[in-house]
Amino acid sequence: MKVYFTSDLNKADLLFMAAGFSKLIEPGDPVALKIHFGEPGNTAYLKPEQVKPISEKIKGCGGKPFYTDCNTLYRGPRNNVKDHLKVAKDHGFTLEDAGAEALIPEEDDFSTIEVNLKHFKKVFIGGAAARAKVLIALSHFKGHDMTGFGGALKNVGMGLGTRMGKLRMHQDCENCPQAKTCKKNQTIESCWVGPPALVQEKMAEYAYGATKGKRSGYINFLTNVSSNCDCYPSNTPLIVPDIGILASFDPVAIDQASVDLVNKTEGPLKGEDKFKTLYPEVDWTVQLDHAEKIGLGSRKYEIINI
Ligand code: SF4
Repeated sequence: MKVYFTSDLNKADLLFMAAGFSKLIEPGDPVALKIHFGEPGNTAYLKPEQVKPISEKIKGCGGKPFYTDCNTLYRGPRNNVKDHLKVAKDHGFTLEDAGAEALIPEEDDFSTIEVNLKHFKKVFIGGAAARAKVLIALSHFKGHDMTGFGGALKNVGMGLGTRMGKLRMHQDCENCPQAKTCKKNQTIESCWVGPPALVQEKMAEYAYGATKGKRSGYINFLTNVSSNCDCYPSNTPLIVPDIGILASFDPVAIDQASVDLVNKTEGPLKGEDKFKTLYPEVDWTVQLDHAEKIGLGSRKYEIINI
């Protein structure tokens, strides 16, 4: 699959056009821009000025872009709509950036999508994104302690799951000694019991559900490539200098290409596989393999420099 690349961080709009993303959009289409607004205290998240050129291009194509994300499972200001929207606003995401306010669905605003895969028969996807025919994932690429790295698959899979969906992805009730007394399936509380491989496979299945039947594109920003995710309330060390921006219609190819680019870039973190150096217990290939197996895309790719 083709993965378009620019090392010029000011060329996100040109990358959008070169990758052919305009063909995703018909005039009048609402276009969901899936983004992580960043946990307060963390500054590595994608900034409005990085993504605004993309929303401008979408508007130029006649689309109606809006930012969207779903609430977190863990406690914090992004686990409820009111405070989540305040975080988005505090981090500079405004009405002018996209065509509409950020849309964060309440927990009861979701679509149940049939997937019939290994772990899930159905998945729970946040309503705002589920209703849009066009989905463009704007992903900050970085390391992650549960999935090795976080890119397009994680942004769309974990990110667009409702809080109940996120619980389903993280739990492993069949193998949990607390299963008889646990009430988390009723209360929707944090559970981090599922091992990394299981969580990654489940996350890929949610990504499948979140994109099923949609016109989708993926843009990965290899900037502020931190060792851990944007959900932490403080920064974690950067593992390489800024590399550039990637765009593809294939979430598997773009994540594989992002891993490879990070691994071949000299930086503060050494090692042939920087994500393995960071998280030796995590096999990050699982998310890519499972995503490929269920038909989300291909680990084989061709880089097109623009
Ligand atoms: S702690 Fe988590 S894995 Fe264990 S029973 Fe409760 S929800 Fe399931």
